[in-house]
Amino acid sequence: MSIEARESLVSRLSFQDAQSKSDLLNPDLTSTDLIEVLLEITALTPGLEITAVRTDHHPDGYLGVHSHQAGRAVDCWPLNSPKAGDYQDENGMRFQQFLKALQKENLVAQVGLGGAANTVSNRNLLGQLGFEDDGEDHVHIGV
Ligand SMILES: [Zn+2]
Repeated sequence: MSIEARESLVSRLSFQDAQSKSDLLNPDLTSTDLIEVLLEITALTPGLEITAVRTDHHPDGYLGVHSHQAGRAVDCWPLNSPKAGDYQDENGMRFQQFLKALQKENLVAQVGLGGAANTVSNRNLLGQLGFEDDGEDHVHIGV
């Protein structure tokens, strides 16, 4: 995965923390699998806000190889537009389509639902891929 691909990806994302952006630009800190999945997912959603990547996330080695600590996870929330904060409704059809798109990605190993995202219907939709995540409202994607 080239630096150009990483730059193209970060130009499509919104960030809550500048460290998330620099982590995604750094091949030593984030895996190419993660970049590949995010490139595919951002092509399918009007916007995606990244809430944490690696440097700005607490150690989560308990998730094993698919963790933030290993550079193989992001926390995020899908958007209705490229505008930061224009969050999709966790009970809406678009949000479910976002989860379904993650399910179709072969590289996605785990999808955590945190806070408001952790609804019964979202959990049911993800099946074994999904887990109840700690913390604030977010969707955790681990590859
Ligand atoms: Zn996470």
